[in-house]
Amino acid sequence: MRLVLVPTPIGNLEDITLRALRVLKEAEVVACEDTRRTGVLLEHYGIPTPTLRLDQHTVGRARELLAPYRYVAYATDAGTPGISDPGAELVRQALEWGWRVEALPGPTALIPALVASGLPTHRFTFEGFLPKRGKERRERLWALAREGRTAVLYESPHRLRKTLEDLLAVYGPKHPVAVARELSKVHEEIFRGSLEEALEHFQEPRGEFVLVLGPKKAEPLEAEALLEKFRAQGLSG
Ligand code: SAM
Repeated sequence: MRLVLVPTPIGNLEDITLRALRVLKEAEVVACEDTRRTGVLLEHYGIPTPTLRLDQHTVGRARELLAPYRYVAYATDAGTPGISDPGAELVRQALEWGWRVEALPGPTALIPALVASGLPTHRFTFEGFLPKRGKERRERLWALAREGRTAVLYESPHRLRKTLEDLLAVYGPKHPVAVARELSKVHEEIFRGSLEEALEHFQEPRGEFVLVLGPKKAEPLEAEALLEKFRAQGLSG
């Protein structure tokens, strides 16, 4: 039994490898988050392989859903399966069932954002989506404040401003950030500046976003001092 993770374009349909197209053609089924979205890609490349929905709601039944197949390609809505999507859970299960798991190299949003940011790339940490609120969010922000590496985060448009505000409280208004919006799409934009400038710039955020924060060089703030800062600035919690 074989599961192949197939990275798919994050915007521009040309961003797919020849090997990815071959695997999508050869597999018995293409399991994917959204059959309509992946269907558009398959149709664009004339690939007749049937699709099967396997998203965050159905990944718990993956074994049953994939039982009829010996060769499954897995694609998520965009980018590399396993990065902030149900791919990681599918891999965990497939390894448990004794399947062979392969991952093709290919598109993902975090790498283009990082390398175009102009911030140090030799050491970085990937945070994905911050927890939405509460203790977990505060703890992750504290951890980031102590981070000596460039940090990459994903964020949705309706939470972008809140996250920029919280980061500003932790890192300070002058801290360098790059905000990559709509990578590889018509309205691609890479904003580079300070956190306060980013807040000024993105008044009504639209599209998909990756945030890249420069490393925090200042001495690590103590938890208590941070707590005070959070309280003073009314951070969510
Ligand atoms: N697996 C994907 C990857 O490899 O990047 C990430 C999936 S995650 C559910 C979706 C998030 O990725 C979005 O909310 C956004 O933060 C980021 N993203 C995806 N496509 C993007 C794009 N074209 N431009 C900027 N960010 C993007």
